Amino acid sequence: MPKSQGVVFLVGAGPGAPDLFTLRGQDRLGRAEVVVYDDLCPADLVALAPGEAERIYVGKREDRKTLEQDEICDLLVRRARQGKTVVRLKGGDPFVFGRGGEEAEALAAAGVPFEVVPGISSVVAAPAFAGIPLTHREHADGFEVISGHQPDTPPRLTAVVLMGMRRLADNVELLRRRGYAGDLPAAVVRRGTTARQQTVVATLDTIAEAAAGVGSPAVLVVGTVVGLRARIAWAESMPLFGQRVLVTRARHQAAETCRLLESLGAETVSMPTIAIEPPRDPEPLRQAADAVAEYDYLVLTSANGVEALFQAMNAQGVDSRALAGVCICAIGPGTSKALAAHGVRADLEPEDHRAEGILELLDEARIRGKRVLLPRAAVAREILPETLRARGAQLDLVEAYRTGIPGEDETARGVAALQGGQVEVITFTSASTAQNYAAILGDQLGPLTAGKVVVAIGPITRDACLELGIKVDLMPPKYTLPAMVETLVEFLKQ
Ligand code: SAH
Repeated sequence: MPKSQGVVFLVGAGPGAPDLFTLRGQDRLGRAEVVVYDDLCPADLVALAPGEAERIYVGKREDRKTLEQDEICDLLVRRARQGKTVVRLKGGDPFVFGRGGEEAEALAAAGVPFEVVPGISSVVAAPAFAGIPLTHREHADGFEVISGHQPDTPPRLTAVVLMGMRRLADNVELLRRRGYAGDLPAAVVRRGTTARQQTVVATLDTIAEAAAGVGSPAVLVVGTVVGLRARIAWAESMPLFGQRVLVTRARHQAAETCRLLESLGAETVSMPTIAIEPPRDPEPLRQAADAVAEYDYLVLTSANGVEALFQAMNAQGVDSRALAGVCICAIGPGTSKALAAHGVRADLEPEDHRAEGILELLDEARIRGKRVLLPRAAVAREILPETLRARGAQLDLVEAYRTGIPGEDETARGVAALQGGQVEVITFTSASTAQNYAAILGDQLGPLTAGKVVVAIGPITRDACLELGIKVDLMPPKYTLPAMVETLVEFLKQ
């Protein structure tokens, strides 16, 4: 979701023990700019939000008069409209009591993007911790969960049937006999929470026919709450919903890519095609790192180069202060970000994130006679060093790292997903990801790649693909990760 429009995450905090909180909840909380929480949220969890995040307590403790429910909804909408990433933390699961449904409706009505992150509900957790299984083949075929607020009126219940698909019509009959009206909305949700999620909506009387072709695993949900789906079916309306995207970047870089894709609703399959290895001869890098302060220019063409240089500097007892007088040129935002992680800001970053872009900045007037350090991969394009030398730079071209192909244990999952037809989109973020992908698949390259949407981050990567016989469907106008993802979103819209 574009950052500018703000987003609300309705996050289940779990039943109380902080480590019964989900990984996704942790991730969203870690990105929160605003946290809205109440009494049932473990205090340790609120502490997981960034220190600078605004924390707003909206609980209903006697001694602290806080907001009414419609004021809470307003607050969520207002903060999101200010462009904020808002986490609404709720005890247990947000859609089991606790008014998460109402908040989702308010957000939908206001046109604010939101996501629901389920939590472990006290419904299952408290009995579990007390040693009470809710179902048991010898004791109970189901359980009832009701609000205890109005014990004088009969509760209106939502029915959820598990394992009901094989005999769906008979299960409908059972519910009818138990008093559920035939015209109640009913939904079958198959493979919930995954890219393959499929939802069929009908009425109790018609669901068996409507969902006849839907197999297991699935749940049947019956009740008027099913009707809310028309407004708050958030997951299925995400731009990359249903897409399984193969990410071929090196493992340590894949996380960022996966997160971006997942935030738009995709499921990601990581198949690292690149392993970063130390240079064959570490001496030149060691020397360059030791004398880094003596260069006029430092040119960095990858985040890997940045990491390798800083590791070598660290080993030499040199830190970022040695770069004080060095003009630093980073090829693009990813490289700049890696530098920033070491507290160093790049002086120059070209518009065109390629060697050609750097060469536009480092013209002859600028670099004639200057000492330039270029630490980079063992194998890379020659145009940068050749042109810099031709322009009179005193260039030290230093091998900072080598790329290899990861072992089978790292790539097996991705290969299996391709073989199982579990991938819709393949992304290549550098020429070497494409080359190594081809090397890993060998003579299966053609068949396993055919029919997928192939995205290349830029022209160099695209050309490498074409040379390998991989047809490229998409290439962004700007050679960055966000631009690549945006191009994919636009393509899938059509
Ligand atoms: N959304 C929450 C429920 C909110 S209603 C969930 O999914 O768990 C609040 C009620 O939940 C409490 O009154 C209590 O009945 C129950 N509850 C919440 N946490 C509990 C816990 N740790 N142990 C027992 N009951 C709990």
